[in-house]
Amino acid sequence: NLTQRLAKVVKTMRGEARLTEANTAEMLREVRLALLEADVALPAVREFIGKVKEKALGEEVLSSLTPGQALVGVVQRELGALMGADLGPEATQLSFAQQPPAIILMAGLQGVGKTTTVGKLAKYLREEKKKKVLTVSADVYRPAAIAQLQSVTGQVGADFFPSTAQDKPVDIALAALDWAKKHYHDVLIIDTAGRLGVDEEMMKEIAAVHGAVKPVETLFVVDAMLGQDAINTAKAFNDALPLTGIVLTKLDGDSRGGAALSVRHITGKPIKFAGVSEKLDGLEAFDPTRMASRILGMGDIMALVEEARKGVDAKAAADLAAKVKSGGKFDMNDFKAQLGQMKKMGGMSSLVDKLPAQFQQAAGGANMDQADKQVRRMVGIIDSMTPAERAKPELIKATRKRRIAAGAGVQVQEVNRMLNQFEQMQTMMKKLSGGGMMKMMRSMKG
Ligand code: GDP
Ligand code: MG
Repeated sequence: NLTQRLAKVVKTMRGEARLTEANTAEMLREVRLALLEADVALPAVREFIGKVKEKALGEEVLSSLTPGQALVGVVQRELGALMGADLGPEATQLSFAQQPPAIILMAGLQGVGKTTTVGKLAKYLREEKKKKVLTVSADVYRPAAIAQLQSVTGQVGADFFPSTAQDKPVDIALAALDWAKKHYHDVLIIDTAGRLGVDEEMMKEIAAVHGAVKPVETLFVVDAMLGQDAINTAKAFNDALPLTGIVLTKLDGDSRGGAALSVRHITGKPIKFAGVSEKLDGLEAFDPTRMASRILGMGDIMALVEEARKGVDAKAAADLAAKVKSGGKFDMNDFKAQLGQMKKMGGMSSLVDKLPAQFQQAAGGANMDQADKQVRRMVGIIDSMTPAERAKPELIKATRKRRIAAGAGVQVQEVNRMLNQFEQMQTMMKKLSGGGMMKMMRSMKG
């Protein structure tokens, strides 16, 4: 499972102040695999990984993050940018010609959702933009295609310009344009034929329609379920037509939508809309950031990082850090607070494997089944101490040890072991600066 794999890498990289070739290599390998699993075409994957590397190397790691988390941040940001986040929300807007009607030409293979999208766009333009919309079908190869467009147009209450399979696509488009001008339509949407594969004749035909009516928007419709092949299809259409935008359909399916990256890689054109249902209200403005998370399958990772932040009682950590930094001594009360913190974050068994190696030893070896019980006993031992003993554990000599052991219902050796562990922890605390402390507390779960 990808999320688990990434989570593992996020955890193993920590305690380093800068992203380097070495501490990002494994993570980048996972990202590359994630993209390939999402069916992103190889050239697009290569370009993206190269870009992330360039941006990430040398980047400073905030003290509140592990390098793994920092790299996840870079990957998300760069993929978001590649998806169009930097273009701003205007990128998802349609252009309208100065002189109506604004013509929208639909392009793409058969079955990707062109005709359905015409219906969705007509509905959106009528209801949201208050436009008077006319649709026309230049799909003269399948008579059913014309009837299908008539049906969806009727469902959304737009106007339909009838055509027949005997007409030529260019003539159909010009006749519809003429009609739209005469009847003051704001928008004319031209649906076209698609083939199962890229086809020379089809490309010539749609290029001819484009040349005849000069659409203000030429939208390439692509199925999000399309895998590696998306890149070839996008290239063919991009070479044949000056595309102005992309519509990514069938995002309600379970594909990760790697086609989005492939298509952006080849065309550089903004993805304007996402189709999210067969129904005619299933059209959304494209959301680059959400798409980036989906492609990486990293929604869970970010949630995990968030969860970790919440799990650590930030104030307690900050108080302790301030105390240690200002020369204050790490005492039994602090130790108990830390043990409590660990319990809050899911118990020793889930935590010990995430701790730095030194702490793993301090936690008493590999038997994690025993670890949680041990933590509870340690807390019990601390509870049996007097406030003076907790503040100054060096007071605890033989007599006091016996009393504490009896109070906690444990053997004296266990009190000794616990005091040893405390001392190790105390030494560790002395070494850590305030920032280091915060980082350690957070990295326990990160
Ligand atoms: P065209 O050949 O490009 O015109 O494709 P159609 O518009 O006829 O759509 C082909 C199939 O895909 C139909 O069954 C549509 O209902 C379906 N479809 C189109 N867009 C979407 C979408 O966003 N989500 C889902 N689930 N199905 C869609
Ligand atoms: Mg169609």
